[in-house]
This record gives sequence, structure tokens and C-alpha cells, in this order.
Amino acid sequence: MKLFNKLLMAAAVSTSLMAAPIVAAAEGLVGISMPTKSSARWIADGNSMVEQFTAAGYTTDLQYAEDDIPNQLAQIENMITKGVNVLVIGAIDGTTLSNVLENAAAAGVKVIAYDRLIKGSEYVDYYATFDNFKVGVLQATNLVNGLKQRFGDQKPWNVELFGGSPDDNNAFFFYDGAMSVLQPMIDSGDIIIQSGQMGMDKVGTLRWDGAVAQARMDNLLSANYTDKKLHGALAPYDGLSIGILSSLKGIGYGSDGEKMPIVTGQDAEIQSVKSMIAGEQYSTIFKDTRTLAGVTVGMVDALLKGETPKINDTKTYDNGKKIVPSFLLTPLPVTVENWEKVLIGSGYYTRDQIK
Ligand code: BGC
Repeated sequence: MKLFNKLLMAAAVSTSLMAAPIVAAAEGLVGISMPTKSSARWIADGNSMVEQFTAAGYTTDLQYAEDDIPNQLAQIENMITKGVNVLVIGAIDGTTLSNVLENAAAAGVKVIAYDRLIKGSEYVDYYATFDNFKVGVLQATNLVNGLKQRFGDQKPWNVELFGGSPDDNNAFFFYDGAMSVLQPMIDSGDIIIQSGQMGMDKVGTLRWDGAVAQARMDNLLSANYTDKKLHGALAPYDGLSIGILSSLKGIGYGSDGEKMPIVTGQDAEIQSVKSMIAGEQYSTIFKDTRTLAGVTVGMVDALLKGETPKINDTKTYDNGKKIVPSFLLTPLPVTVENWEKVLIGSGYYTRDQIK
């Protein structure tokens, strides 16, 4: 290191040491309410937040509600009673929190919607998430790329659509983003939805349940594909993709020369990364939960210090009562071609975890 740089660094260190006593130490209790432990991503979100809040000097109370709405409401009420300063909430059902948030506001507790928008309440201060429309665009783009690669010579492609949970606002953004790519191809006849099932009211999967998706795929296959081949399935979350793949494998896709349809996903969960490497799931979307946790910690820190949190979107997320100021992170598409670079290279997983 050049001497000048060394001097600069020494000056910076001594200035920060001198400044240290007058900088207020961060303090406060943060209640973190996560939807479920049944999916690895929420466990990673919770762990990253606890780690980063603790490093910033805060105390945390992390609770998982196991996809049970009354349970989540009770946990949040409890956090308010304990005197949390801020609530960070990944909602199970984004429409059920209005009463509890009124209580939070009355107690002076600030609220951050984490990854999923909280709807119907004016007491949501900020929203930290990914660009959810873009997630859908990337999922559909992966699907189309896969169809070209694996079934380039077999147009029109038979595709079935799966949506996320209809009580999760994100599910609509993923679906709309995907349809912005797929609808023109359906209109032009390049893609055919043999079941005719389209729209979130028909393709939604309550509570993002993989078993529900698997059962629906079983039905779609027996009703529409006894004399036709399926080429692709739009799946918005890895847990659904794994269910869909089980259904497909159950009737022989992926073996004896029967090509596996292109199945998309989201969250880069370990089981799905392994499935991609095994040539089953085609793609997923990586949303770095460490970064989302970091954005959230930054928002809370600013709020508790009386500063304005950093946001980059003031238009997209209308929750019915207000447009919630948001910070949107960028999702990344992952296939077998780039998983090592994206997931191992970023230190999100170790190579051993994927073995
Ligand atoms: C999240 C996704 C996740 C899904 C199911 C959504 O709200 O944004 O990352 O796959 O919930 O847990």
C-alpha cells in the first residue's frame, strides 16, 4: 500500500476513534415475524437479520408462525407487549394485519413489510423487497430459453402455468411479470396452454404448498396430456417446482428418452440447485437474503435514529391505503450454466452443501 494511502487510512481510523464517544450507540428491540420455517429461504432471512441487527447493536426477537395466520397475529401482539421499537414482518396473508398494526401504531412501533407487502393498512412505514415483477419476467424468460434449447424443433410448445399463494401480493407480481413475456407468445400460437387454465384465480397455489402443486399437475396431466407431450411448466417457487417434477417423473418424464419439460422456480433452494445439476429443474431465481436483511437493518437503523431510510421506489406498491415507500433489490436468474458463479462465488452456499 502506498504511504499516502496508509496515512489516509490512519487518519480515517483516528478520526473515527475520536468520533466514537459522541456517536449514539444503536439500541432498540426489533421484533422479526417470519411466515414459516418450511422453506429454507425464510430461515436464511431470519438468521441474516438476527446476525446483522446484532452486529449493529440491536436486540432481536425472531418468531416463525408456521403459515398459521392466528399464530402470526398472536406473535406480533406479543412483540408489541414486550415493547419492541420496530416490527419487521414477512406476512403469511398480507391482508390480515390491519388490526394488529393499529395496535402497533398506537404503541409507537414502526413497521417494515419484509419481502411481502402488507395490504389494507396505513401503518406500514417501509417495504424492503426485490423487484417482484422482474422475478416473473426472468422466470418466463428462463422458460422460453429452455423451451428453445430442449424443444426448439417442436413448436408450438405445450405449457402449463402455476401461480403462488393468492393471499401473497408477490404472487400477482410474479404472475404478471411472467405473463408480460408469455401472453404475446400465447397470442401468436407459439405457446399453447392445453388445459386453458390461466389467471391467478385458476393457477394460484394456496400457501405456496408443493403438495397442492403436485396434485394439480397430476390432474392436468391426466386430463390433457394422455396423447400429447408437455414441454414446460411455469413454477414461481422451488417448493412448487419440486412437487411438479415429482408428478412429471411419476408418469415417466425425464427417463427412457422422454424429455423432461422445462420447469422454472425461485429462491435457489438447495434441493432445487441439486435438481438442476441432475438435469431435472431447469432454472431458479436467486434473491440474496443477506442483502435483503442488510437493506432492512439499514431502514430500521435510520428510523430509530430519526433519519430517513434509503428507498428507490415510490410508485409500485399501493397497499390500498397508501403507496408504501420501498427498496427493491435485483433478482438474478440461475440455471445449470451459472449456478456455481452466482451461488458459490457469492458465498451464499459452500460447495459441500450442494454435494
Ligand atoms: C417470496 C418468494 C417465495 C415465496 C414462497 C414469496 O413471497 O417472495 O421468494 O418463494 O414467497 O415462500
